[in-house]
Amino acid sequence: LKIVEIENLTVQYPDVKALDDVSFEINQGDFLGIIGPNGAGKSTLFDSMLGLNTKYKGTIKFFGEDIRKSKNYLKEIGYVPQKPIFEKNFPVTVTDVIRMGLRNESNENKIDEILQQLWIHELRNRRIGELSGGQQQRVFIAKALITNPKILILDEPVTGIDQQSIDLFYSILRELNSKQKITIIWSSHDLDAVNQLANHVACLNRTLFFHGESEKFFSNDE
Ligand code: ADP
Ligand code: ADP
Repeated sequence: LKIVEIENLTVQYPDVKALDDVSFEINQGDFLGIIGPNGAGKSTLFDSMLGLNTKYKGTIKFFGEDIRKSKNYLKEIGYVPQKPIFEKNFPVTVTDVIRMGLRNESNENKIDEILQQLWIHELRNRRIGELSGGQQQRVFIAKALITNPKILILDEPVTGIDQQSIDLFYSILRELNSKQKITIIWSSHDLDAVNQLANHVACLNRTLFFHGESEKFFSNDE
């Protein structure tokens, strides 16, 4: 089942063409790694998919529907942006951050469940700015997951996270994909990690150089 269709996506900024005629599809249950150097257009692609950049040519469809026609699809997406930086004393706790993801409803059981699942339950009353990078990253995944999205989009932070946190983070992603069947779209600089986790790869540098099964990508390249 196709859940995302990107057709001839082109984004021209005043000084640079960030995306040039990019087309690919994402099926339900895919774990897609998007790789490409800085400036490759990864953020521009995400911004366009999330409705944050509307100045594109081409078509983006979620669940078969053009995103220009309806914003309902956004309810099905959890988005984890690149790590924001907080002052140590920023007066917001882990639980506060996750509750923000719920908007109006309040569902304390669900918050509890997600705190456990992301291994941050013991941190729930700590201020967000006091946590390590890896802990903060898990809090933002929890916030993104609190509404039970079908799709999780992650713009991975690449620096400042210790290896133990990275391993835990990857095992959480793997479980979300394999057990909860959440479709994952994840940009990364880390080829080894993409090789280990993703079952599909999109290799982007303004144009799309490769899109397909990661086995094919990595067997060609190595
Ligand atoms: P990546 O996320 O892969 O690093 P970006 O999508 O951030 O790539 O950027 C792609 C290119 O587009 C870069 O040259 C960047 O400077 C430029 N760019 C990104 N966003 C904007 C914008 N809002 N206005 C103008 N240029 C932009
Ligand atoms: P990334 O590391 O994901 O590429 P960037 O630092 O390139 O992040 O971009 C972060 C945000 O800034 C994105 O929303 C991007 O669209 C915007 N941006 C990037 N380059 C430019 C630019 N030259 N002018 C305006 N906005 C930009």
